[in-house]
Amino acid sequence: MSERECRAIVAARSSGVCEICGEQPVQSMHHRLTRKYGPWSPANIVALCGDGVAGCHGRVTNTRGQYYDDGWLIHTWDLRTPDEIPFLHWQWGAVCLDNAGDYHQRKDAA
Ligand SMILES: [Zn+2]
Repeated sequence: MSERECRAIVAARSSGVCEICGEQPVQSMHHRLTRKYGPWSPANIVALCGDGVAGCHGRVTNTRGQYYDDGWLIHTWDLRTPDEIPFLHWQWGAVCLDNAGDYHQRKDAA
């Protein structure tokens, strides 16, 4: 999948609203698994407000433990693929992101 295709799918999924706070318009795309190691795939990319220093995108550039717990960041050594790691979404809670642009309930949830 190209970066351009991925951006289009993620933009549609977000409906133009930041996928972390749900309060601000989307201003940038964030790699959950860092750009160096992670693909441009909808499971790995989320649409956020802000940029590298401001808004939610600015927040997640701080590598705090909580952000890994929330699935907003993914450790490079995590053996799971991004679609298997729940992402804490402002509206849907902990959901898995697939590569088609949909949200799913966690596979391990009852
Ligand atoms: Zn936000």
